[in-house]
Amino acid sequence: MHFVRSTTFVRVVALCVACGVLMASAAAASAQTPGISKARFGTLEGGQTVDRYTLRGAGGVRVGILTYGGIVQSIQAPDRRGRLANVTLGFDNLEDYVTRNPYFGTITGRYANRIAKGRFTLEGQEYKLATNNGPNSLHGGERGFDKRVWDAEEVRQGRTVGLRLTYTSADGEEGYPGRMPVSVLFTLSPSNQLRFDYEATTDKTTVVNLTNHSYFNLAGEGKGTILNHQLQLNADRFTPVDPTLIPTGRLQRVAGTPMDFRRAHRIGARIRQNFGQLVIGQGYDHNWVLNRGSGGGLVRAARLRDPSSGRVLTISTTEPGIQFYSGNFLAGTLVGPGKQAYRQGDGLALETQHYPDSPNQPNFPSTVLRPGETYRTSTVYAFSAPRRR
Ligand code: BGC
Repeated sequence: MHFVRSTTFVRVVALCVACGVLMASAAAASAQTPGISKARFGTLEGGQTVDRYTLRGAGGVRVGILTYGGIVQSIQAPDRRGRLANVTLGFDNLEDYVTRNPYFGTITGRYANRIAKGRFTLEGQEYKLATNNGPNSLHGGERGFDKRVWDAEEVRQGRTVGLRLTYTSADGEEGYPGRMPVSVLFTLSPSNQLRFDYEATTDKTTVVNLTNHSYFNLAGEGKGTILNHQLQLNADRFTPVDPTLIPTGRLQRVAGTPMDFRRAHRIGARIRQNFGQLVIGQGYDHNWVLNRGSGGGLVRAARLRDPSSGRVLTISTTEPGIQFYSGNFLAGTLVGPGKQAYRQGDGLALETQHYPDSPNQPNFPSTVLRPGETYRTSTVYAFSAPRRR
């Protein structure tokens, strides 16, 4: 009897110790000493080394960034119980990034998104770009900023950790005019905000549109579809597109259409509706026109929530638009770090940006950059996981 009771007692104590360990590790996941580390990720064919920097934020989030393409290779974020998972699609090796990356995590530029027929005219001169997406130019051409090796510098500001990547694009690179030094400052704050500050200058009049092209799955990469995520977009209008995904030039109201995300909606709820724009995009692949006041500061653009893990991503930006792409062209041919194949809708991109094809659309906000001016934009990804009440 005495023996049985003491066994029960031992079991209860063991259980409590185990619970304590679990709770402690959950707590550890949501608080850590901030830091930056660097490791070799791989070597390019020409012998150039690619490094992976890891930012460990005081709030628990960890971000891996490659010097190749400025790629955000992973974002480890806690769920509502403090458990970390990588919430971005990507690869665990350099070769896949070099040979088959559909822009997972990249800095896209010089011009993120599409330019119709790979052509634009500036100050009376026509410029021709590579047409790498049907008849159009996409994400900077054949070898955009996503395929360049960037110089890296570690940044520490109090308990915020960061990395500054710089790259100088030569005059005429990918057909764009002007020598363009670019810098992207990534910072991770103690409150789990990952911030991107982009800067660029030029010595000839040119166009520029930079973004980060992370694909998110807040349940964790390789965990299946994002169709159950809830999305809210702060936009009354979107830019409808032609069959090659070039804006028609109109700004269309979202009211009464499946493009209306002013209130949060499950992404899958309306994605298969017979609505012309969704048929063209094989899902969502459009630019939303953000509601912003007269000021040029950061405004809330999007809120994404995964009900299963409780993870929430809130995006704020200084940009006028956001491209919501529901991973329509993932076809099961790419395998992520979790050794799972990515199929249609297994990740989604929310790309803060100027509208697609702005260089050919006089009514859209301008993407022209002139000598003497500095291009500056900022975007913040804030990660949280409110506990259930
Ligand atoms: C575009 C998609 C494209 C994807 C990957 C997105 O920004 O809108 O059409 O398939 O990038 O290239």
